[in-house]
Amino acid sequence: MNIDIIPINPWQENTYILSDESKECVIIDPGCLSPEEREYVAKFIADNDYKPVRLLQTHMHLDHVFGSQFVADKYNLKLEAHKDDEFWGEQTVEYAANFGMQLDSNPPAIGNYLNEGDKVKFGNSELEVLHVPGHSPGGIVFYSEADKIAIVGDVLFKESIGRADLPGGDFDTLVSAIKAKLLVLDDDVKVYPGHGPESTIGHERTNNPFLT
Ligand SMILES: [Zn+2]
Repeated sequence: MNIDIIPINPWQENTYILSDESKECVIIDPGCLSPEEREYVAKFIADNDYKPVRLLQTHMHLDHVFGSQFVADKYNLKLEAHKDDEFWGEQTVEYAANFGMQLDSNPPAIGNYLNEGDKVKFGNSELEVLHVPGHSPGGIVFYSEADKIAIVGDVLFKESIGRADLPGGDFDTLVSAIKAKLLVLDDDVKVYPGHGPESTIGHERTNNPFLT
């Protein structure tokens, strides 16, 4: 599996494009906000001959969904996310106004609910859905056992974890969910967070102050 990372928008949110030899790809957390950012993502996909077949969300916080409507429209995809984050999507415009931002619309409604244990297939590849609440109630991780990768959203960062003080968040839930769902994975599984650099499960097991 090939992983492209595009850090984007004022929050430097990592948009992920996962592809394989079939050239089919999934777009995870399209945070592209400005017309220029949207054009950049579309051109990147076109230049690589990728065929987007799924639009996936690790969660529905605003910096992860700025470009979701654009991607849904451009590639005719439905948005796939966990039901427990639906309320975040429905109040994106309102929430963005708190930051002085005027958005045109909320992201699309969730068109396919993803749940713990679901298999997300594209091309010749498969991702497993792990429900890891606490940063947001519907936070999910996309894990590939075969490729030893985990796209973790804002659940886990290199030597840190996501904030738990936003609506629906809970610190104890987050720490225990990370321990139960992620720290059980092999040390050499690569961790790709929603912001900042990648890490590994092994590195976090021994160096993450919230988890040791
Ligand atoms: Zn978040």
